[in-house]
Amino acid sequence: MNVSSARALPRGVDLIHDPALNKGTAFTKEEQRALGLRGLVPPRVCTQDEQVLRVMENYRHKPDDLEKYIYMIGLQDRNETLFYRVVMDHIEEMMPIIYTPVVGQACQQYGHIFRRAHGMFITPEHKGEIAEVLGDWPQPDVRVIVVTDGERILGLGDLGANGMGIPIGKLSLYTACAGVHPRHTLPITLDVGTDNENLLQDPLYLGTPQPRLRGEAYDAFVDEFVTAVQKIFPKALLQFEDFGNRNAFRLLQRYRDRLCMFNDDIQGTASVTLAGLYTAMRITNHKLADQRILFHGAGEAAIGIADLVVSAMVAEGVNKDEAMSRCWFRDSKGLVESNRTDLQAHKRPYAHAHAPLQDLLAIVKAVRPTALIGVSGHANQFTREIVDTMSKLNDRPIIFALSNPTANSECTAQQAITWSQGRAIFASGSPFPPATYAGKEYVTGQGNNSYIFPGVGLGVVVSGARRVTDEMFFEVARTLAQLLSEEDLVKGCIYPPLAKIRDVSAHIAATVAEIAYKRDLATEPRPKDILQQVRSRQYQPYYQSYV
Ligand code: NAD
Repeated sequence: MNVSSARALPRGVDLIHDPALNKGTAFTKEEQRALGLRGLVPPRVCTQDEQVLRVMENYRHKPDDLEKYIYMIGLQDRNETLFYRVVMDHIEEMMPIIYTPVVGQACQQYGHIFRRAHGMFITPEHKGEIAEVLGDWPQPDVRVIVVTDGERILGLGDLGANGMGIPIGKLSLYTACAGVHPRHTLPITLDVGTDNENLLQDPLYLGTPQPRLRGEAYDAFVDEFVTAVQKIFPKALLQFEDFGNRNAFRLLQRYRDRLCMFNDDIQGTASVTLAGLYTAMRITNHKLADQRILFHGAGEAAIGIADLVVSAMVAEGVNKDEAMSRCWFRDSKGLVESNRTDLQAHKRPYAHAHAPLQDLLAIVKAVRPTALIGVSGHANQFTREIVDTMSKLNDRPIIFALSNPTANSECTAQQAITWSQGRAIFASGSPFPPATYAGKEYVTGQGNNSYIFPGVGLGVVVSGARRVTDEMFFEVARTLAQLLSEEDLVKGCIYPPLAKIRDVSAHIAATVAEIAYKRDLATEPRPKDILQQVRSRQYQPYYQSYV
């Protein structure tokens, strides 16, 4: 039993009510006697496998996905070990429930389906005492924090304090996918108000019913929060999630060299997409340095991907200006080019000299990209003509339709495969069923950030890395691409099956740790075998004996 390393074992109902320690119907008779549980649990002692059966029967009887989410959160509240066992044994079925897309619905309904508080809400009311407030978290050894300010929750916009579902869901994936111990995780929402009128009018809204804090007051609040995290949880990785565009890039620039942090919407997305490009290079036998990439959309995802592609090209020996000239963008107003005067700061470095163009097909014809990446949040943008043009320009056109949810995808897997006569190398943001063309089945890939961020977190925990660097993100992209088998490639799949996510995450973590050691960023002693050390640190969702 190593729970003692965390804290003393409670007894009786206190033990049953402690989700980290509760075993429900699986306490042995011996444990019941020793821990004051006699008569407090049903007479029959169940195995964990039997408990999983019961959970799945209940789960599958739930009438809709939101009810499934509520049921699973209830299980997490009661019995964390069983929750992770169920999620890990059914990862493909559970991931869309505990994370996107269903977590989005859960956030929209947060104040209405609320059962019990998870994580911490930090508000401007705590100004001047944020460190003290963080000190109230019951677990002292926090290693991974996911924080949101709720301004841009998935594709759903400003959900204020309702955004709490996101850090909770994301941290569940750190544990389920990579094996970061739940006791090392802390979900945080910075409740700085909301500009969402519907929420402000909702009597069941649980956040501060005020307009969003902006400007200097916002910056000072975030700064106090970040400083407090460094003081109270000095070993923690701080992951920023679902901040609005105007703050996400700024905060990343401000803090990336000051503490161990990253932004998953920008850097995690970039890494998983770059992995898809590396896999495409395995298929086409081309070099990343030779690619010309057109992004449809120029927000956090698009700019993040381009920045990382540029870093990766530079690491391959390409001059930075040349690498940047390989990335082109189309935003809601047309081609991002140097004559435009309406460009936000994050787009300007990619505004190349070109005549103005609006239409995506015309832009494809002018730029002649090898890869077309959709991250605009708008459906049906990759038309038959566009896919056809990409297929005339390239033997194997790379077409990634990454906008979520499924209904927003720029085109479907079937469309990309049919319109390119089976030649497109396709990935999407949300999963699609296999496509068929000329009697062949194509299992296309989902560019799911979960391939990257949980492993990055575990790598930071194992090595005690002091920073998360661009090099880590492009090297893990390479690692992920290498993990695909030849059979996966033949099927058309450019990401490994989600069922292998624990193993994938172990390799990602080992890559991160390796770089931390190489760049003198690690604070933990270097183990002989990094991968083996990573595996030995992966949380296992099985009960420990308490007697
Ligand atoms: P964002 O709001 O930061 O950016 C959206 C961008 O699209 C903006 O630059 C906007 O100008 C542009 N845009 C809007 N309408 C357009 C149009 N009609 N034509 C061209 N451009 C248009 O959002 P984001 O975080 O960059 O996310 C964008 C999309 O990518 C979302 O749908 C999101 O779900 C998806 N995404 C997928 C993954 C993944 O697959 N792993 C990860 C992150 C984001």
